[in-house]
Amino acid sequence: MVKLAEWRGKEIFRTYGVPLPTGRVARSAEEAARIVAAQEVPLPCVIKAQVLAGGRGKGGAVRFASTVDEARAAAQAILALEFKGEKVREVLLESKLAIGRELYVSITLDRAGRIPILLTSAQGGVEIESVPDDAIVRQPIHPFVGLTGYEKRRAAGSLGVTGAVARSLGGLLDSLWKAFNEEDAELVEINPLAVVGDGVVALDAKVIIEDDAAFRHPEFAEVRDDRTPLEEIAREKEIAFVQLDGNIGVIANGAGLTMATLDVLQQFGGRPGVFLDLGGTDDPAKVTEAFLLMAQARPKAVFLNIFGGVTRCDTVAKGLVEALGKVPTSERFPLVARIRGNNEAEGIAILRSAGVVSNPDLKASAEAVVAAAGGPSPPGGAA
Ligand code: GDP
Ligand code: MG
Repeated sequence: MVKLAEWRGKEIFRTYGVPLPTGRVARSAEEAARIVAAQEVPLPCVIKAQVLAGGRGKGGAVRFASTVDEARAAAQAILALEFKGEKVREVLLESKLAIGRELYVSITLDRAGRIPILLTSAQGGVEIESVPDDAIVRQPIHPFVGLTGYEKRRAAGSLGVTGAVARSLGGLLDSLWKAFNEEDAELVEINPLAVVGDGVVALDAKVIIEDDAAFRHPEFAEVRDDRTPLEEIAREKEIAFVQLDGNIGVIANGAGLTMATLDVLQQFGGRPGVFLDLGGTDDPAKVTEAFLLMAQARPKAVFLNIFGGVTRCDTVAKGLVEALGKVPTSERFPLVARIRGNNEAEGIAILRSAGVVSNPDLKASAEAVVAAAGGPSPPGGAA
């Protein structure tokens, strides 16, 4: 999921013709003051923290200024914030508009209906989760036909706008639909969409790009800084690899078994630190690669919990034994294995040849790996 900051979302909206206030990004109070002094953003202006969390309006992360000094002070105050755990590094300065009503519009994917859907609500400006269900109008959009005239008219009706404002809304919805498709978005949201004079203006922007389409959008590569360097390498190699803050490495196959293994370790006081989902890998070379990546995360102990189905036990064992030979002695760690299912006997034999004993019992295996990683941590997870 590539979630874009407001200003990046607005930059996209602008290219599709969505009406927006004049805006500039600043990374320091001085830069903010300079932008306002140069009238790149006219006064009075709005100064907004560029963080991914919502609720900035209520949380003091959106401020107003009518002089250069006020803009500098507001930017300084916001840049000093840590908003819902996220350090503010950028502010967006925008001209403050005299807004009439605040509305809500978004296009997202309705996963149950397997179709894009247009959401509109006359109760904009507050988080959509807090708007009563019957105050939100949902219209599925046929992906081939796109937004039709009657759907736009129904949207206008639901928002209580007519005449020139409704026409302005129609144009905006066309732009939004185009942006949603061409940018491979899973969400484009404007909250609030403000009525200003006889038109509508997007005061906020939330854009989420579909992760599976990220390869088509190298322009957002710099935004994806939520991955660790190892996770980044794993991603390039198409290995499902996630780093957590514990010290036990988990290698399993399939999301279900992987999650269940994490739960079991937790239950026995273990702290999973990194997990690797081999999925349907049927290639010993890939297993080796994945295992070496895990070794680089420096776990104190590793639990290999495999159920052989499509991925046969011997394939995993072969890859693992090969990888074990490549891990430098200084980076070795205790390995507890439990491998069952398809070609189990062959897999166990291969492991044994490398000195790894497979224990069929889940509880005993989990306890063994927790002990190898330094013993159980106290309940409540304080570690
Ligand atoms: P969020 O709370 O994080 O979603 O941040 P928003 O971008 O939605 O801004 C919060 C609120 O600030 C909005 O609901 C508006 O009431 C107000 N706001 C933002 N920009 C303007 C503006 O240009 N003029 C006025 N009058 N209010 C604004
Ligand atoms: Mg908002």
